[in-house]
Amino acid sequence: MVGVPDTTTLGYRLTEEQEFLRDTLRDLADEKIAPRAAEIDRTGEFQEDIRRLLAAQDVLALPFPEAYGGVGADLLTICIAIEQIARACATSSLILTVQALGSLPLLLAGSDEQKARFFPDLASGQMLAAFALTEPEAGSDAAAIRTRAVRDGDAYVITGSKRFITHGSIAGLLSVFALTDPDAPRHRRLSCFAVEVPAEGFSVSRLEHKMGIRGSPTAELQFDGVRVPVANRIGEEGDGFRIAMDTLDRSRPGVAAQAVGIAQGALDAATAYARQRKQFGERIGDHQLVAGMLADMDARTEAARQLLYKACTEIEAGSPDTARWSAMCKLVAGDAAMAVTTDAVQVFGGYGYIEEFPVERMMRDAKITQLYEGTQQIQRLVIARSLLGRPD
Ligand SMILES: Cc1cc2nc3c(=O)[nH]c(=O)nc-3n(C[C@H](O)[C@H](O)[C@H](O)COP(=O)(O)OP(=O)(O)OC[C@H]3O[C@@H](n4cnc5c(N)ncnc54)[C@H](O)[C@@H]3O)c2cc1C
Repeated sequence: MVGVPDTTTLGYRLTEEQEFLRDTLRDLADEKIAPRAAEIDRTGEFQEDIRRLLAAQDVLALPFPEAYGGVGADLLTICIAIEQIARACATSSLILTVQALGSLPLLLAGSDEQKARFFPDLASGQMLAAFALTEPEAGSDAAAIRTRAVRDGDAYVITGSKRFITHGSIAGLLSVFALTDPDAPRHRRLSCFAVEVPAEGFSVSRLEHKMGIRGSPTAELQFDGVRVPVANRIGEEGDGFRIAMDTLDRSRPGVAAQAVGIAQGALDAATAYARQRKQFGERIGDHQLVAGMLADMDARTEAARQLLYKACTEIEAGSPDTARWSAMCKLVAGDAAMAVTTDAVQVFGGYGYIEEFPVERMMRDAKITQLYEGTQQIQRLVIARSLLGRPD
């Protein structure tokens, strides 16, 4: 769609089920996840018990169709769940976010046979999924992927490496994008494969030490002649780039939801602190400069949330402008999370800068929402392209 789009068509109101899920998950996260968040950040280790907790509550089943053991939730419901977990612990929210991200290629372009083979284990949370697009030389420019998949009888042989793959070291199923035809037009060169691991020739060569989301492993993966059956190709040869872009259009709202949750968590912590900390004989919240900061934080967080919920509603309704909605909500929410968490540290003063309080962790966690699944610059390019069209 080119030109200024009509944005007035669809409203939304949370259903009773969505409100129930939001409240239940908020309580669960407050009780079981929030008390663990500082330790998860400090140790930098993936928490199997939180994966099991989310699986037991059917949270990991949300993105999968009922026919394959899932809940069949819509995008808004999934985002509400991500938001509530991220409010307590951004790392833990990635367990659901990446389960959805890694499975989206199959959901959007997989065959019934592939869905029947993989979805029950993914929906039950027994198996984790990951999304393997990025490479050392192909970040924002995903079409520049060099990992090769060469057809050999009834299999493809995959050779190359992937960088920055969330859960790449613990997933049982990887959606891997690889070059099948270097001579095809730029956006027809890639194909997508469901790679089951462990597999011969597959290895994890490195885990990153990160600023934030530290309990979520980010892996470098090596594919040294990994044989993948033709039956595991997702879609047709040459569909890979389109599948990757369609996946990101539906997954970026998940990052926006993570950002809104982080911002809300920081606002809640800062508000509680401003109510009890006294300086100059008054609660710091009664100093107008602090009160103004809290008001701005609240307004920014709510604005990001409303755009996210609206974007989910448009995308679910099959908007012809999905890429724009998806990019806009991630852009606005990522920037809101960064600004709100930075202000939360300010409200805490010196105490905001030390590990004893959660807001320094939240500020570090917020930064990633401006980077992954396309940087903020890339979101702006997507939005501008929707307005201007591609150059001739
Ligand atoms: C913790 C973490 C987890 C991740 N998880 C995954 C994952 O699960 N799966 C996966 O496939 N990838 C994942 N990524 C990769 C992530 O999506 C990329 O890092 C991101 O898309 C940016 O790519 P890059 O790091 O190569 O930066 P580059 O593309 O090199 O960009 C560097 C800078 O240049 C800017 N830039 C680049 N091109 C343009 C342009 N055309 N116009 C204007 N500015 C531009 C960027 O905005 C950025 O500021 C993850 C990354 C991190 C850090």
